[in-house]
Amino acid sequence: MKKDATRLAHLGNHPFDNHGIINPPVYHASTVAFSSVAALSNRMPDVGERKVAYGRLGTPTTFAVEDTFAELEGAAGAMAVSSGLAAISLAMMSQLVPGDHALVVDTVYAPVRRLCDHVLSRLGIECEYFDPAIGAEIATLVRDNTALVYMESPGSHTFELIDVPAVMTALDAYDVVTVFDNTWATPLYFRPLDHGIDIVVEAATKYLGGHSDVMMGLVACNERTHASVRRYRDLVGYCASPDDAYLVQRGIRTLDVRLSRHRETALAIARWLEGRDEVIRVIHPALPSHPGHDIFKRDFAGSSGLFSFVIHPTDEHALSAMLDHMSLFLMGFSWGGYDSLLIPYDINRFRSVAPLNDDGVLLRLHAGLEDAQDLIADLEQGFERLVAAKR
Ligand SMILES: *Cc1c(COP(=O)(O)O)cnc(C)c1O
Repeated sequence: MKKDATRLAHLGNHPFDNHGIINPPVYHASTVAFSSVAALSNRMPDVGERKVAYGRLGTPTTFAVEDTFAELEGAAGAMAVSSGLAAISLAMMSQLVPGDHALVVDTVYAPVRRLCDHVLSRLGIECEYFDPAIGAEIATLVRDNTALVYMESPGSHTFELIDVPAVMTALDAYDVVTVFDNTWATPLYFRPLDHGIDIVVEAATKYLGGHSDVMMGLVACNERTHASVRRYRDLVGYCASPDDAYLVQRGIRTLDVRLSRHRETALAIARWLEGRDEVIRVIHPALPSHPGHDIFKRDFAGSSGLFSFVIHPTDEHALSAMLDHMSLFLMGFSWGGYDSLLIPYDINRFRSVAPLNDDGVLLRLHAGLEDAQDLIADLEQGFERLVAAKR
């Protein structure tokens, strides 16, 4: 198989189906017309079948990004929906029924916890949170009614690594569907399906879109789960807009070059932070100081631009002195765009099994595409304001 950089430049494009124009056209469609009664009966898809028959069911624009993602993940098929969270709901809801039990990693993206605690629970589906360090011990949590295991690695904000091969081997004996949120690594740096995972979800909002302007989610499935996920999607009406599909497809073209830059800049900043007195510890899986570094080296092909660090206990006044006046880093949710972000988190509000025990303030940093030295200078001035305000 050709290298990712090569594939990214060509996947999903069919120029000679479209006047030689390289990029897939943006089809805005609700109604799709049929030329005859025979065409109508031929082209009306069954639930779960992919055909151009009605806007909600997809167009060549959405098919292009779905096929590209499926190829990159090594999947039987993929589906685009309106957000990363919608992709996660689709993956979970399509596989769970009332009475089921699901195991969900404690360090999951916080809105997934809300989905579990406020939506799935109302449907009689019980979610139990597990420690990301669980490894083969996951087997001790599996019950007769356990139907799904949901993983995200590294963990949201705190970057704990799951020993995926150990978990998957332990789950071999059970009939459970496994779901993995691969937003941090993207298929370039981690390939969940190669580890036997059934369904990969990804917020295309982040690195695949890459320009802080699009909301979209992707779900990639293996042979075992593809039909059931697609069928559920058709039944409930999830879909993605053509403009967003186009933007994500366009973003994917530059994913390899952008990720290399995000990776190198984040590593330069992380190493610099490790030498600072203001910092208690840096939490970055690619640093040897990370507790999961061996797992990272074994399973991942690279690191992206998002990591965290903990600074000494600080009151809000001093924290504001630092963060309110950054010249390059912005404070905001989401990440994966060209812009650098820095935001404090009270993460233990979203943990029930594996809390963070640091005595300090957790800051999450996204390294954008700016120059690394300029970003470091911005942080250095921020620390000077922090220290001055503490006196
Ligand atoms: C942002 C994010 C999501 C949700 O994506 P949206 O497009 O914002 O709904 C899911 N998982 C992870 C890890 C994320 O960072």
